[in-house]
Amino acid sequence: MKIRLLPALEDNYMYLLVDENTKQAAIVDPVEPDKVVNAVKEEGVTLTTVLTTHHHWDHAGGNKKMVSMVTGLKVYGGDDRIEKMTNKVKHGDEFKIGELNVKCLSTPCHTSGHICYYVTGNGGQDGAVFSGDTLFLGGCGKFFEGTAQEMYRALVEVLSKLPANTRVYCGHEYSVNNLAFAQHVEPANNAIEEKFSWAKTRRSKNEPTIPSTIGEELTYNPFMRVNEESLQKHTGQKDGIATMAELRREKDSFKSKV
Ligand SMILES: [Zn+2]
Repeated sequence: MKIRLLPALEDNYMYLLVDENTKQAAIVDPVEPDKVVNAVKEEGVTLTTVLTTHHHWDHAGGNKKMVSMVTGLKVYGGDDRIEKMTNKVKHGDEFKIGELNVKCLSTPCHTSGHICYYVTGNGGQDGAVFSGDTLFLGGCGKFFEGTAQEMYRALVEVLSKLPANTRVYCGHEYSVNNLAFAQHVEPANNAIEEKFSWAKTRRSKNEPTIPSTIGEELTYNPFMRVNEESLQKHTGQKDGIATMAELRREKDSFKSKV
């Protein structure tokens, strides 16, 4: 599989996912359809599918124009508020893009119908997960329509269980701010220091910090690490869900100095 990053709006990412064997392609969260159509032409592929992570306008807001520009598109999503949705999915549902396999992971919390898409090929290549606004590099989405318990399930019980080398393609370029917060809550963690310095260098050259991997996230993302003693101590909590709640509360008012 080939995955091409398409920056959109201020700090969003759309992703063009291509099955190189059949030249069939899917687009994740096509908020700027003109850019998508150009990329599809450049790659010489056939766009068959839209994967929508959640209903927010900066992810689903381009669906209407997208389906008007390319006929016959299937539009997947897990929420009735998603415009032009043709295929509603739930946790564990699977389908194909060409020969690539897509598995739907329901991760309600940022929005109640949020879906992450886990994609694997048949060539023994590492998988990839399109995590929308559930899991970011070094952080997670705000709890607009859910609870700390739900985000705990999404991050610790679902996404953490994917193979460690799964690449993570998230919905926004928030890495530098997220890692500033990670360093604040876990100052002795060397993995955070290294990734933070790397991310600042990348962004100073206007290069993306995406993708990371699930294995990497487990070393520096505080919201994936809520069962670690260091984070429970920082938040004054004794279990993972309470730590998740407290970390999110603290992050919501955190002002980074970068
Ligand atoms: Zn969102």
